[in-house]
Amino acid sequence: MIGLNQRTGRKLSVIVMLITVLLAGTAADKPDKKVAIVIDDFGNGMKGTEEMMKLSIPFTAAVMPFMPTTKQDAEAAFKRGLDVIVHMPMEPNRGKKEWLGPGAITTDLSDAEIRKRTEAAIDDVPHASGMNNHMGSKVTADERIMRIVLTVIKERGLFFLDSRTTHKSVIPDVAAELDVPLITNHIFFDDVYTTSHISGQMAKLKKKLADLTAVVAIGHVGPPGLKTSAVIRDSIGEISRQAQFVRVSELLPSSAHENQILP
Ligand SMILES: [Zn+2]
Repeated sequence: MIGLNQRTGRKLSVIVMLITVLLAGTAADKPDKKVAIVIDDFGNGMKGTEEMMKLSIPFTAAVMPFMPTTKQDAEAAFKRGLDVIVHMPMEPNRGKKEWLGPGAITTDLSDAEIRKRTEAAIDDVPHASGMNNHMGSKVTADERIMRIVLTVIKERGLFFLDSRTTHKSVIPDVAAELDVPLITNHIFFDDVYTTSHISGQMAKLKKKLADLTAVVAIGHVGPPGLKTSAVIRDSIGEISRQAQFVRVSELLPSSAHENQILP
């Protein structure tokens, strides 16, 4: 009886040892650092849409509401296992109103209208688990407006990604006060539409990985779409040796992330 127990015990300890070695091996193979790429401006059949969707990495698709391919792009991204978020048009300090697109949030709107537009945009983008701002340097610096938007985000169990189009963003303070899960962008890949600029921004991302455990970077379909998708595609091999590509929701604290995946 004792002999049998000893043998069983020894077998068990060998199994435990093997599992420990296997787990250690897996942890060592996967870099701890994370890169979350977000691609903005889906929803309008823009240049580079197909190329972005073909990238072999997980990323986050920010889809504009009420546009010709809103549903199509959101469904395609969801089927690929990507995060889908609402790319909410918000008034900038400078720029033309027509760049905003339909259903935009502007500073001249009433509280009730801001709530209505935020809810309508979320309802229009299938599978949305979060929201980020399209433009919005004026709106994201406005506490009255962001309090309403972030209250709706909280009610819907979503998270917010602050694209950081202004240093005056009130989003960090208001999100903390309302306990809304928040992620902040670090880098825009393609604010200038040239391959040399986009490659330079990619080099900055790699540099940032030395100091940060997670880096968030935003690129676009549209005018720079083909160039940005090519730069990302060509960097996958090198970055994969330093970091894992993740969807942006994977950077949320685990409790908030679990809320995301509940039905
Ligand atoms: Zn945008």
